[in-house]
Amino acid sequence: MKDCVFCKIVAGEIPSTRVCEDDAVLAFMDIGPIVRGHTLVIPKAHYESLTEMPQELLRRVADIVQRVAAAQIGGLKADGFNIHLADGAAAGQEVPHVHFHVIPRFEDDGHRWNWAAKRYENPAEMKALADRIRGALGI
Ligand code: AMP
Repeated sequence: MKDCVFCKIVAGEIPSTRVCEDDAVLAFMDIGPIVRGHTLVIPKAHYESLTEMPQELLRRVADIVQRVAAAQIGGLKADGFNIHLADGAAAGQEVPHVHFHVIPRFEDDGHRWNWAAKRYENPAEMKALADRIRGALGI
């Protein structure tokens, strides 16, 4: 897509540090790593949302996500990794081209997720939400 920064990276119109690629998928270094080694994995074709992607393409992206994560463990001697995807502005998506963040984690990397677990009012509230999701799944 014309104004998409990641499409421009795919096309080689703006520079990137590529990790690996095939005909459908590209992995490259995030320019603003939250931990050094932070890698992005994208479909080369432009999709804004994960929900729009063909399943076969998603499988191919997931395969590279898994391999890059394993390579961060093997090659960077990471102690673990996080996979993150922001879908939609409300979720913090800044670049509207599907991208998985693959973030190597080290015991002493200093990064902390601001993950504040909340509670349901009661079990019925949780069940009602599950039912709405199930309804949308058509089951
Ligand atoms: P998100 O907030 O999930 O949309 O993440 C967008 C990510 O893209 C951020 O982590 C940015 O650092 C990264 N990013 C934006 N522009 C570039 C670029 N030209 N090269 C590499 N990474 C980029």
